[in-house]
Amino acid sequence: MLGCMEYGHVMVRYGEIGIKSEQVRRKYERLLVKNIEAMLSENGVGFNGVSRERGRIFVESRDARAAEVVSRVFGVVSASPVAVTGTDIKEVCGMAAEMGRDIIGEGQSFAIRARRAGEYPYTSQEIGRICGDAVFEAVKDRNPRVDLKSPDHEIFVEVRDRSYVFSEVVKGVGGMPLGSQGRMVALVSGGIDSPVAAWLMMRRGCNIIPVFFNNGEFSDKAYTERAMDAIKKLKEWAPGHNFKVYEVPHGDTLREFIGRGNVKYTCVFCKHMMYRTAVEIAKREGAHGIITGSSLGQVASQTSDNLMIEHYMIDFPIYHPLIGFDKDEIVALARRIGTYDISVRPASCCRAVPAHPSIHGRLEEVKRIEGEFDVDGLVEKELAGTAVTML
Ligand code: ATP
Ligand code: MG
Repeated sequence: MLGCMEYGHVMVRYGEIGIKSEQVRRKYERLLVKNIEAMLSENGVGFNGVSRERGRIFVESRDARAAEVVSRVFGVVSASPVAVTGTDIKEVCGMAAEMGRDIIGEGQSFAIRARRAGEYPYTSQEIGRICGDAVFEAVKDRNPRVDLKSPDHEIFVEVRDRSYVFSEVVKGVGGMPLGSQGRMVALVSGGIDSPVAAWLMMRRGCNIIPVFFNNGEFSDKAYTERAMDAIKKLKEWAPGHNFKVYEVPHGDTLREFIGRGNVKYTCVFCKHMMYRTAVEIAKREGAHGIITGSSLGQVASQTSDNLMIEHYMIDFPIYHPLIGFDKDEIVALARRIGTYDISVRPASCCRAVPAHPSIHGRLEEVKRIEGEFDVDGLVEKELAGTAVTML
């Protein structure tokens, strides 16, 4: 009978954390364990405990979904459902044979991949050979074959303080544990790009403070709902961490600008004012940067000229993790993250966008235009009208 083996544990592998100094590594490992526990709980996966052991994390769970759920935790390189046994070679062989019986079908090939850590009376090659014989014997009525190059099944045997036998390796999302790299403000409009940008920084360990600018009369309710739903989807990747979501009224700022008649610079000014307000929010929150979904040349506001002008007078780090990405790459990531279907929902285009936006804006001109406004006053007004929701 296939597929009846009880695994009992999930072995979790993590990458970059392992090369940090002892002190940093302990801190990151603790964070990773906490995030794994929160992800399992949030997804209703029962578990008895999560422990750390010599460069690996073990989740004690009999839930078949456990490895897949753990693979979505930032910092996890891969996860495997494992059967655990003692280090006696007989026990190890017995477990490998049981796994062989479980997965090897008629006429299929297999290979044993053996590893050991620490002192052990057998070399890895010997473990491989002895376990290979035991597996072969266990399924010999199915005409099995040994194929070390491209087998139908790989049975991994790792002998450490205990022994672990597994055949499945679920690829993890990678990155660093969420919360290990401070906090940043993420400008999320709900389009395809900005949720992906925020997610990439989360994957590198950043907690985010999502900020949405509501363009008021220049936009509609669907636009706001789309942004909020995208933010909720991002939150699914951050169990155990709070999202403090800011909704900032931006319509008055846009109306005031358009009223002066310099409409070809509306988008540049709009973005610049978003940065100004976002910097104030970041300072209040003790955040270290601002994240946007800009990708070079994608739309009129994202030419190198305009990006330069938008950053004028902004004395604060602004990160554009998608700056060198092509659209199809961004779309593929959005699908994987789960925000794509939300982002393509119909919503109003920004009605403040002029027919002919400036593509190669001139800094001198924008400086002069900005001089006509009480910029600080506009920022104050936006901050005063801001609504904050905890997710
Ligand atoms: P996206 O695809 O992310 O919606 P976009 O392609 O429409 O963005 P722009 O309008 O130039 O491009 O915006 C560039 C970036 O500015 C966005 O990725 C986002 O980070 C930020 N941004 C734009 N509009 C808003 C908004 N209403 N609220 C919050 N951030 C915004
Ligand atoms: Mg875009």
